[in-house]
Amino acid sequence: MSKNTIRLYCDTNLRELFEARDEYALTREQLHYLIDVMRCKVGDSLHLLDGKTGEYECKIIFISRKEVRVRICNLLKILNSQADLWLLFAPIKKAKTELIIEKCVELGVKKILPVITDFTNLPKINKHRLKSIMISSAQQCGSTWLPELGTLQGLKEVLQSWDSKRQILFCDEKLEGTQINMVLQSLQSKPMAILVGPEGGFSKKEFDLLMSQEFVRRVSLGPQILRAETAVIASVSIWQSMCGYWSDK
Ligand code: SAH
Repeated sequence: MSKNTIRLYCDTNLRELFEARDEYALTREQLHYLIDVMRCKVGDSLHLLDGKTGEYECKIIFISRKEVRVRICNLLKILNSQADLWLLFAPIKKAKTELIIEKCVELGVKKILPVITDFTNLPKINKHRLKSIMISSAQQCGSTWLPELGTLQGLKEVLQSWDSKRQILFCDEKLEGTQINMVLQSLQSKPMAILVGPEGGFSKKEFDLLMSQEFVRRVSLGPQILRAETAVIASVSIWQSMCGYWSDK
């Protein structure tokens, strides 16, 4: 992908349009971007991805202030299968929550579940805004996949309905957990989720609740107390290197 390739996400099934040799009309926001920012003309190429089937090469066949239509010419990349890692995190300040979401797309997380904990800094999320951050992140990093973003739920409710086949790696800064790499080695290819707390960490009650679950493993990310966003980036990266894309499994 060259540096100035235009990659845009669209909320449709591009394979169906491609097979039917149908055209696709871009959204108003994309239209503004293509005309006013990128100064596109009829005949220019761009890439479209749908997060469902893959990435396609398209050509602009009609352009006006009201509408841009493209023809879908080639399938460039089939949807990359996502390594099976989930993230549970307590939303922190807006910019940092957005950073977490952006990095999860870049590093590769299949499902993101925001959870409310006793010390959660931000008891709400703007799902629409977070989805658009995921889209820009995917457009920028070349991923054809978007993680699924769950609805904000209490930690207790999440644990109550948890499928015990998926292990939760509970990131705990108290230096008593086993190093994450040791735990990953022992769990091998079991489905996993990483849990990172808010700035104030977890309450005693939450700690006890977590430790009483058979599917929860307490893990350490080293001697320093990391910021929540650093803990997410570090733990997802090490998971990818030992169990996911970057491993030779
Ligand atoms: N309660 C702490 C800070 C919490 S850091 C305090 O103020 O002292 C935010 C979250 O990042 C934690 O809940 C934990 O999930 C994760 N985290 C930070 N450093 C960590 C480490 N060294 N090992 C494991 N998890 C860590």
